[in-house]
Amino acid sequence: MSAPVAVRGGTVVDAGGSRRADVVVDGDRVAAVGPDLEVPAGAVVLDAGGCLVAPGLVDLHAHLREPGAEESETVETGSRAAALGGYTAVVAMPNTDPPVDSAAVVRHVQRLGAAALCQVAVAGAITVGRAGRQLAPLAELAGAGVRLFTDDGAGVQDARLMRRAMEYATALGVTLAQHCEDGALAAGAAMHEGEWSSRLGLPGMPAEAEELMVARDLALARLTGARLHLLHLSTAGSVDLVARAKAAGQVAVTAEVAPHHLVLTDAAVASYDAVFKVNPPLRPAADVAALRAALAAGVVDAVATDHAPHPPEAKELPFEQAPPGMLGLETALAVCLTELDLPAERVLALLSWQPAAIAGLAGPGGHGGPVAPGGPAHLCVVDPAEAWVVDARALASRSRNSPWAGRRLTGRVRHTLYRGEPVVVDGRATR
Ligand SMILES: [Zn+2]
Repeated sequence: MSAPVAVRGGTVVDAGGSRRADVVVDGDRVAAVGPDLEVPAGAVVLDAGGCLVAPGLVDLHAHLREPGAEESETVETGSRAAALGGYTAVVAMPNTDPPVDSAAVVRHVQRLGAAALCQVAVAGAITVGRAGRQLAPLAELAGAGVRLFTDDGAGVQDARLMRRAMEYATALGVTLAQHCEDGALAAGAAMHEGEWSSRLGLPGMPAEAEELMVARDLALARLTGARLHLLHLSTAGSVDLVARAKAAGQVAVTAEVAPHHLVLTDAAVASYDAVFKVNPPLRPAADVAALRAALAAGVVDAVATDHAPHPPEAKELPFEQAPPGMLGLETALAVCLTELDLPAERVLALLSWQPAAIAGLAGPGGHGGPVAPGGPAHLCVVDPAEAWVVDARALASRSRNSPWAGRRLTGRVRHTLYRGEPVVVDGRATR
């Protein structure tokens, strides 16, 4: 039995609001929450002075690369990066090798996740091999614990197959998550199609490649009653479609955006540095502004990292040949606190309890709070005032492809508790 933990002097923030309170943790549970609590004998005391004490963050979109690309990341290194970023749960994307399209692979990743520094919820593929031709055994995967299905990396191109997937998903009570990209329109593209792609002479994909699939899937979700989650939306047109669908009702849709799409624009590609190559691509400033407005208006439900590690030799290839993707787990909260004009409480809602609900990880014993006696001790303690500079060499990820390297951010995770265990203390992973 581990020693009790006392988190002292912070401000507890959860869906119920905020209040000055200490938190005492015993085993894997919160034992007490309140001002000036007595520290139990033998307790580990964690200083939370000036900090927000929130339910652990939940990432809907992390590529942990295991099995198959362990040179980029493993479940262990990815979960350490997550813990350092304040996450206590991540949804692991199924585009591994082999892909997560059978219960055997689900169980394999679950076994790896059992030793991780955060909970690893395994997402399953919608189609066999993520090839878009034949439905994966969704019932078998759901039986193994999968709650979210996606072919992420690619969208399901065939509308009839997507309709069938939605019908099965509805019956199973699971959520389908779509990487919205019309493969034909996007074929061969290295960036967003627009002024910068013309200037740089790089092949682009138009915003419509994303928006066509958003529109199609909203229509199919209306037809089937399926729960649809839209991954990493990146254009003004996409969030406009979601806003209209939500206003009209009748569609069970949620949407996420990634931190890089809220801050960076396609002008960054002018460096030809492949660290700025990502899918969906960085967009013009008008799209960034529309995503921020959608976040503020509640049209977008979550910020997700799309953490996508790649080894240096892959990112050093010429821009057109380099693989798309950026690291995100260790910086997402700090980027949002620094760059978004939103109160910290709203940022935490977008990174913790709202995504927990979408992932099916909320509720008693789950993630996203509230921080209350008897509840699970998954906590993120963040100092919203601490300034730091991102050092790519110091990241816990096995890869280095952070677009934030060298950037000064304000807001840093001080401690993370997962199942009551202090996995991060004073900004350092404990194992
Ligand atoms: Zn994707």
